[in-house]
Amino acid sequence: GPVLKFNDVKFHYDPDREILKGISFEVPAGKTIAVVGPSGAGKSTISRLIYRFYDVIEGSVEIDGQDVRDVTQKSLRAAVGMVPQDTVLFNDTIEYNIRYGRPDATDAEVREAARLAQISDFIDGLPDGFNTQVGERGLKLSGGEKQRVAIARTILKSPPILILDEATSALDTQTEREIQTALDAVAQDRTTLVIAHRLSTVINADEIIVLRDGRIAERGDHEGLLAQE
Ligand code: ADP
Ligand code: ADP
Repeated sequence: GPVLKFNDVKFHYDPDREILKGISFEVPAGKTIAVVGPSGAGKSTISRLIYRFYDVIEGSVEIDGQDVRDVTQKSLRAAVGMVPQDTVLFNDTIEYNIRYGRPDATDAEVREAARLAQISDFIDGLPDGFNTQVGERGLKLSGGEKQRVAIARTILKSPPILILDEATSALDTQTEREIQTALDAVAQDRTTLVIAHRLSTVINADEIIVLRDGRIAERGDHEGLLAQE
């Protein structure tokens, strides 16, 4: 599998305020690395740099030794799957939204992804805001339900590199626990970067990186970091 690497990455949105002040880490092939830290530490920014919503100011992000700036958008999208914090759905059926990224998927595969993400009940519905003629198919989805649609899409796409950016943060505890099991299955043997607020949600990570004020403040395994708290 591919390796994901950050080489002394510096980044700012606004030149007056550095967000990442030289971040280096590596997600070895098939491993899961978690980045945790307080709100505003720059965690989501890391995922945006991988997907090239923004480019690094200094340093580089590499996938399999190749700078992401030298990879086509198409192959980047094929290699990396992301469950973002805030999911924006396409104005089409939930099924279309799940299939997006893998239009060739069979109906059975789509149904299985929907089952794992617990959205089987509204797979034929349409997200709210879509044209009023749809009548009773129109859905008002909560943040957590949208999150589950993004999770189903990612389960179906099953990308070589997985980024979970607070993927279960919008879910209630019971749903979170159940969906975490589905996500763990997708992450199994895949190169995975997990972004989380709390240490307690990343017990299974091979390494945990604590980001604070744009720098790596600590790194270690779950037990080691807990011991320092
Ligand atoms: P985290 O995910 O750790 O909460 P983010 O990476 O989302 O942190 O944000 C890090 C900092 O960058 C925050 O202070 C945030 O306000 C700021 N920030 C995020 N996105 C933008 C943007 N598009 N423009 C300007 N500042 C931003
Ligand atoms: P794709 O074409 O592979 O779906 P997109 O660029 O549409 O790629 O988005 C990939 C995922 O990232 C989507 O789930 C989308 O909601 C999310 N996303 C899109 N733009 C941003 C952004 N600026 N910041 C964070 N997440 C985003």
